[in-house]
Amino acid sequence: MSVLIFIDQSEGHIKKSSFEVLGYGAKVAEQLGTTAEGIILGKMNDDLASLGKYGIKKVYHAASDTFNMFDSQAYTKAIGEAAVSNGATVIIFSNNLNGKAIASRLSARLKAGLVSGAVALPDTSSGFIVKKGVFSGKAFANISLATPVKIIALNPNSYQVKTGEGLAEVVALTSAVGSAQTKVTGTNKIIGEVPLSEAELVISGGRGLKGPENWGMIEDLAKLLGAATACSRAVADAHWRPHHEHVGQTGGSIAPNLYFAVGISGAIQHLAGVNRSKVIVVINKDPEAPFFKSADYGIVGDAFEVMPKIIEAVKKMKAH
Ligand SMILES: Cc1cc2nc3c(=O)[nH]c(=O)nc-3n(C[C@H](O)[C@H](O)[C@H](O)COP(=O)(O)OP(=O)(O)OC[C@H]3O[C@@H](n4cnc5c(N)ncnc54)[C@H](O)[C@@H]3O)c2cc1C
Repeated sequence: MSVLIFIDQSEGHIKKSSFEVLGYGAKVAEQLGTTAEGIILGKMNDDLASLGKYGIKKVYHAASDTFNMFDSQAYTKAIGEAAVSNGATVIIFSNNLNGKAIASRLSARLKAGLVSGAVALPDTSSGFIVKKGVFSGKAFANISLATPVKIIALNPNSYQVKTGEGLAEVVALTSAVGSAQTKVTGTNKIIGEVPLSEAELVISGGRGLKGPENWGMIEDLAKLLGAATACSRAVADAHWRPHHEHVGQTGGSIAPNLYFAVGISGAIQHLAGVNRSKVIVVINKDPEAPFFKSADYGIVGDAFEVMPKIIEAVKKMKAH
């Protein structure tokens, strides 16, 4: 019995969401009185032994070049084989795009119960019960997993990680070489921006901004704060912004520390993707806009008057 944690990487660097699942998985192992181990696939530039500070004892590393590009079939096979040969009974992923793609395949392969979108540590006092958000985050469900192997995909930004001391033993997985039926020949990446899924601060715009030509103020504030930019679906559908920026029920689901919404009404489908944000700031000229009900801070005003003032204030603050 052990806990196996999938460590996601991009171009040889460990993704931020992986640190969260490492800390979470180590805590689950502690609850179950067992050890936590990580698995990482592809050539790495980062030091793997230092991941011990998150509480894991071992890192299985399959360095075959075939894993450099993400491929859910090849990744599922390698993780499944490692889980079986090492007797893992709980397997943990981040509930991001890669994690979602592998967790569901692995669940079918290992006949393992899966909870995707977990938001807390499992209750192991009697059985194994995992809490997750349902109905677009409006309610919680407690799911009891009774299968011998259990899989959890943790929603990003749900667990506060604490680091300690220690080094993990790095074990080469030479047998895992990947044998996918599909070949990834390349991926298109958006360069030079803060990736939305990893961002701690997000500045987002809606149809209240009137047109794509007015996005300068969203980008200026994002640049000043080191934030990512996002938008409502109405904006992406109108081709004012690219679809990868669209958040909500049918777009990305995010949980940044700050979500700053400008000229967005706060329709329930939009809130579904952002209501896990730690702090929500809303600027809307309509005092009755539904978004104000979910906001921690609200400014009733015209975005075209308020935003330049906020940008100036941040510039001044940064100059001091
Ligand atoms: C099945 C389904 C799935 C959907 N999925 C999503 C989703 O994933 N994400 C999503 O966002 N939407 C989604 N929608 C659409 C959603 O219902 C809303 O239509 C959409 O979110 C509205 O976008 P908006 O708030 O930008 O635009 P609007 O509803 O047009 O709101 C614009 C807001 O800007 C304010 N405003 C106008 N001018 C100014 C100004 N000068 N200064 C300040 N404020 C101003 C207005 O008061 C208004 O509140 C979905 C809908 C359906 C039916």
